[in-house]
This record gives sequence, structure tokens and C-alpha cells, in this order.
Amino acid sequence: MTKTNESLFERARRVIPGGVNSPVRAFRAVGGTPRFIARAQGAYMYDAEGSRYIDYIGSWGPMILGHGHPAVLEAVQKAALDGFSFGAPTEREIELAEEILKLVPSMEQVRLVSSGTEAAMSAIRLARGATGRNKLIKFEGCYHGHADALLVKAGSGLATFGTSTSAGVPAEVVQHTLVLEYNNLPQLEEAFSLHGADLACVMIEPIAGNMNFIRTQLPFMKRLRELCTRHGALLVFDEVMSGFRVGLHSAQGLYARALPGFEPDLSVFGKVIGGGMPLAAFGGKRAVMEQLAPLGPVYQAGTLSGNPVATACGLATLREIQRPGFFEALSARTRSLVDGLAAVARENGVPWSTDCEGGMFGFFLADTLPQNYATVMATDKERFNRFFHGLLDHGVYIAPALYEAGFVSAAHTAEDIEATIAAARSVLK
Ligand code: PLP
Repeated sequence: MTKTNESLFERARRVIPGGVNSPVRAFRAVGGTPRFIARAQGAYMYDAEGSRYIDYIGSWGPMILGHGHPAVLEAVQKAALDGFSFGAPTEREIELAEEILKLVPSMEQVRLVSSGTEAAMSAIRLARGATGRNKLIKFEGCYHGHADALLVKAGSGLATFGTSTSAGVPAEVVQHTLVLEYNNLPQLEEAFSLHGADLACVMIEPIAGNMNFIRTQLPFMKRLRELCTRHGALLVFDEVMSGFRVGLHSAQGLYARALPGFEPDLSVFGKVIGGGMPLAAFGGKRAVMEQLAPLGPVYQAGTLSGNPVATACGLATLREIQRPGFFEALSARTRSLVDGLAAVARENGVPWSTDCEGGMFGFFLADTLPQNYATVMATDKERFNRFFHGLLDHGVYIAPALYEAGFVSAAHTAEDIEATIAAARSVLK
């Protein structure tokens, strides 16, 4: 029997809930049958039916070099021959930690884990342990993985804390999480005046990729830093998506350039630092990080943490992105894509706004660039879904939901971008 995406989806649904191991893969937001990917090379993915797609998801961020980069493949093959996992320290963990710290000056120490969820969850525990406080602030539309305390939507007012977005999370577990609107300065001020003394941390995606692509506005970030410092709350940057993706020094490098001296207290990384393997990290100043076990009272551990094959993959990836001109070329390519798409939208009278940084981009079917989650979700979903399927039919694979960012890799050529814009032109017509 020939394998089709549909037959595989049917088979998958019998043995895996919803047929997928992570919900967004199921195409529920856009409808239709998910593509079952058989292999990928460079900027392309090939599905079970042999169809080729220009890939703008890049495994949701990690594949900044494209698929199957020779230097990464070689590093992974070599590491695999030496052993998959030891449960004992290795030199490569030190190398990867050194490489990350060299590029992120706000951190003096880093701990490696296996997923962004784990890194964000551990950073929260560390912030609570280090400050002796329980409460935390997050922002609507920012995703920090699926730890219980972070699966929260806003309560009915600033004095009420959140309610969980998932069944199975006791109200007691989210009672300390306050959810605010992204980029809403008066709300931030009020939240600090009400709860500042009890706040362990504020966690934020500095460039949010889980409500498409929205930046934290500079005055908001500046004030957030001031308020955290004044009230003794830790500012935690979730750079799982933006890290080593929007620039060599991540989003915090961009904010430090605009706001001299700016640093978060803790940072969370994932995706690019693993190059497509399960690897993530969190880090900060030594005094805070040394609160972690085995030195301090905050427990955190992992059987596969710092896995030898994953660290080899991440290290090779981080070395490649440091080649001279890497981010300049990647940024130019991304820019040519978003400019081209915007021009095609204009030609066809389709409302459009767009933004990008490094190898990450977003576009909205709206005339003005949204600044928070509610505005993103108010954009034209129906039209987005038709655009998504139109592109897919033309061999262009963007994220299957209007609230997800897009990713360009170093493997995307000018021809790939042109082909994408041409596909968009015929779809938007
Ligand atoms: N934080 C951000 C900003 C993310 O985008 C994600 C995943 O997309 C996570 C955390 C969770 O990472 P993971 O899926 O590796 O658990």
C-alpha cells in the first residue's frame, strides 16, 4: 500500500492522541491533513508522498543552518560513535557552556537541560528559591513551555491571579501567576505597585514568537527593568525562540544596544543551541546560579541533561553562526522575503504588516503591526488559513497558525525566496 499523508495520519491517530506528539502539528488551527515528513535537506522538507516544501518552520526555530548541514552532521556522527549518553560529565558540556557564555554576557553560568519547557520551569524555580518569593508575572501571548505554573490566562483583574489554560492544573498551582498584557505600561506599573514586594520574577519573550512576531517596545522594556530592580524581582528573558536566532547575541544583545547596560537576570535558551537535538539551557549571574543543587538548595536535575550527541550538534551549530557575515546574510535574506511578501500583498490590496529580525519573521493580515496578543488574534483567521493552504499547495510550508513566527535559514537561497514570493503572488491573487 502506498503511504500517503492521509493514511499515515489515520494510522497515527489510532496510536497517538490526535496523531501527533505536539498539538500544533495536527493542523487544527488551519484544518486539513498534516504532512508527514520523510526527510529534509537544506531549505527543503519532503513528505511521505514525495512532495517538496520550502521550509519556513525549521523545526519551529532550531534549524538556523538548514537541514543536514555538513559540519553539524559530521559532529553528530562522531559524537554518536563515542557513545549516546553516560550520565557523567563530559568535556563537550563545558565547551558548549563556554560558547554560550561568551555570546551572552549577562550570564556567568549556565545549566544545560533537554527542552525549553524544562529550562523555563527550572528558571522559575530558581527565581523563587533565590528570592524566597512565590509570585510571578507573565504576559498574555508569550509561551514558555507547558510547566503547570506557566499555563495560565489572565484573571479578571490585576488583583486576581490567573486561571489555568489546561485541565489537570490545580488552581493552587497557578494562584501565584499574574498575567499581563504585552507592552501595556500602565498595567505593568499597577501590577508592581500592588504586588512588587512579593514578586519572584517577571518572565517575558523579549521578541515574542508565539503571537507571530511582536517586539517588546523599548520604553516598556526599560521600565520593566527598572521596576524589577527596584522591587527585587528577577527579570527572566525567555529566549528559547529568539536566542541566537534574531542575532548572534540574541534579543538581549539588541536591547543592550538600545539601552546601554541593559541585562536580564536570568535567561532561558533552547532551539538553536541544540541545532535540532533535544537541548536547552538557563543561566544568569553566578550568585543566583549557585543556588542550584548540588551547591545550593534549589533542586534541578536530568538523566539526559548535557547529552553528548545533543551538545555536539548544538556546539557545531553555534560555531557556524559565528562565521563572519553569517547574521548579515541571514538578515538580508529574511528582509528580502518579508519585503517581497509585503509588496505582493500591496499589489493585491490585501491588508498586511510585517516585521523581522535576523532569521525570524512575522506577517499579519492587518494594516498596522499588532502590539499584543488580542490584536494578533483579531486578525483575519479565515484569510490566513486560505493563504496557508494556498502556499502549501505551491510547495511552501509556513507555520500552520496565524500566531506563530516564521524562520529563514542560511540554506534558503535567493531563488527559494523568489519562488516563495511568486507562490504568494498567485495565492493572494
Ligand atoms: N519558550 C518559548 C519562547 C518557546 O517558543 C517554546 C517552544 O516553542 C518553549 C519555551 C518551550 O520549549 P520546548 O518546546 O522545547 O519545551
